[in-house]
Amino acid sequence: MQFPGYMAMKNLCGMTVDEIYELINPYEFTYTHAISVSNSLYKKRLKDFNDFPKIPGKLRSLLLDKAETGFFRYTHMQTSEDKSVKYLFMNSEGRRFETVYIPDGKRHTVCVSTQSGCRMGCHFCVSGAYGFHGNLTTGEIINQILSIHAAGKITHVVFMGMGEPLDNTDNVFKACEILTASWGLSLSPRNITVSTVGILPSMQMFLQKSDCNLTLSLHSPFAEERKLIVPVENKYPSAEIVKLMKEAKLRKGRRLTIAYIMIKDINDTDKHLEKLISLLRGSSIRVNLLPYHSVGVDDKESSTPEKMQKFKHILVTSGISASVRRSRGEDISAACGLLAAGLGSKCKEDQVFGFIS
Ligand code: SF4
Repeated sequence: MQFPGYMAMKNLCGMTVDEIYELINPYEFTYTHAISVSNSLYKKRLKDFNDFPKIPGKLRSLLLDKAETGFFRYTHMQTSEDKSVKYLFMNSEGRRFETVYIPDGKRHTVCVSTQSGCRMGCHFCVSGAYGFHGNLTTGEIINQILSIHAAGKITHVVFMGMGEPLDNTDNVFKACEILTASWGLSLSPRNITVSTVGILPSMQMFLQKSDCNLTLSLHSPFAEERKLIVPVENKYPSAEIVKLMKEAKLRKGRRLTIAYIMIKDINDTDKHLEKLISLLRGSSIRVNLLPYHSVGVDDKESSTPEKMQKFKHILVTSGISASVRRSRGEDISAACGLLAAGLGSKCKEDQVFGFIS
């Protein structure tokens, strides 16, 4: 028994259970078999079809002959003093992308990339400066979670690595489905967050189709100023996006968040705080305040910890849920906005990655 030629060497990682079923159904294998295959793949993370339990010998032979799990190993890794780990992956076409594992007590988070580089060009972000090298497939996104050391412990996934997730919607939506499905990784949608600079039509679709959390990278409540930091403001005004977020009907526990990177004397004035409060008052949108990470391309500095706490305090006393997020992995360029800091032409990978695994 053989798969037809067009099915040759299918990568199963990144397929839904329906797609696996479509593949094996012509050979009279059942939906239950498809579920067994997807459980072995996504829950057990088995890399060899010989180890897949509960499948008939004929199905195993077919998979061995004509399919691959689609898992692939990172090429470099580096561990931070705070135990965060940054991984570099390279796909079969040579596109590179980074993943960060962030342990925090019982919480084990993976920050995944959705593109190699990015075409959004946000001012503060090294991934944008790296340029755009292509969308990642669903399998390449899921593999970042299943092929790292802590794969068996992951409780949370954030789409905040390289790339704009909502510029690669098909693959990101499908990855969210695999992460949350009972036949997939069975993670709660409450533990998955997609972060965007504000691609309005895709946000509308995401809010309707998915129950996962959504974060908007705002960084300034003033449109003209935001245009200088986040150029997509020119196309999709944040006023419309915040309106969409405020009016969204949310199922219990789903979180909408504003990410606000605080830059000293640029967006941390009383005027900014007042505008932010007037923009969000009366909504359930929460605010995450993040320190700015300078990468040496400008003379800007992060707001002081005192200023960040003051922002948080006044937001909270104004009825807006807010927190200051502590920086993780800065020493290995794994913090927010720093991914791809080692991938530029002027910087060799080995200077950035501590050792080759
Ligand atoms: S912040 Fe996000 S959307 Fe903006 S350039 Fe960086 S990766 Fe792209």
